[in-house]
Amino acid sequence: MSAPVVRTVLGDVAATELGRVDAHDHLFLRSPALPGEELDDAAAAQAELAEFARLGGGTLVQWTPYGLGRGAVDLPRLSRDAGVHIVAATGLHQARHYPPGVVEALAGPALAELFVRELTEGIVPGVRAGMIKVAGAYHGLDAHARWTMRAAAEAHHASGATIGVHLEHGSSGPEVASLLCDELGVAPTSVILGHLNRFPDDRALRELAATGCFLGFEGPSRAHHATDWRLFDALASLIDAGRTDQLLLGGDTVVASGRATTGEGPGAPYLPRVLWPRLRREFGADAEVAITITNAASAVANAQGRGELRDKPLEPMVPQ
Ligand SMILES: [Zn+2]
Repeated sequence: MSAPVVRTVLGDVAATELGRVDAHDHLFLRSPALPGEELDDAAAAQAELAEFARLGGGTLVQWTPYGLGRGAVDLPRLSRDAGVHIVAATGLHQARHYPPGVVEALAGPALAELFVRELTEGIVPGVRAGMIKVAGAYHGLDAHARWTMRAAAEAHHASGATIGVHLEHGSSGPEVASLLCDELGVAPTSVILGHLNRFPDDRALRELAATGCFLGFEGPSRAHHATDWRLFDALASLIDAGRTDQLLLGGDTVVASGRATTGEGPGAPYLPRVLWPRLRREFGADAEVAITITNAASAVANAQGRGELRDKPLEPMVPQ
């Protein structure tokens, strides 16, 4: 079995090389749903990434899908300059994030073909996506969600790429797991259920963990998120339930004002500055290394060869 690799914007790297990972964030994002808050400034992205690196960040996984201004042309230079691995995404968000006509143009088999092309050939020449991002609806899966998830599963089977799911307000995790894993045959270890911090119901989270999917907690970079204060209780509940190896943590900076260096939010640097040291303090070094390094590497590694990852010793690096 070959060693697991992660597909970054500068090419494939061994999954053991990622360092500490911000498992869900955005350097570039442009949506009609967030007017005036576009992340479209390469210099601002560069500043944020440099600060993330200075504090000990090793990899940033950008969950910005097709058509939302991913900055694919800029990402390789940003990655090189900051010394931070960047994983870009293909995939499709909810329809409300696109101008009229964009989603309609991808009807039928075109969507899965687009995903596969961006994963294997490139978003732009030489810059390939390393994961597939799709989205659910609130407390259910609408036709758009089912269509995009079917295309994502098809692209996963063709490429081995992980599927990251935006759960609307953290809801519908069981429905997503059932569709992707039970119905469409995607291994739960290739699925990240994101935004669980927005629905911090401990009992529901423990039940969801039984699906075997990775559990993504994001949102602490968004000052307006009322559930931020539940993050560590939710993590503690899952760690107590023996689910440490499924936990992921990301910043999910989606608005320009949420950046640390050019905005007034905590941004991606909030992870190395506050959250990672706190994980270590509250849950111990093993749990912190699992959440920030091992789980993240495993979650975004191509499905082929992933089995070896946990057997490799990972250098623990103490964040500042
Ligand atoms: Zn996001």
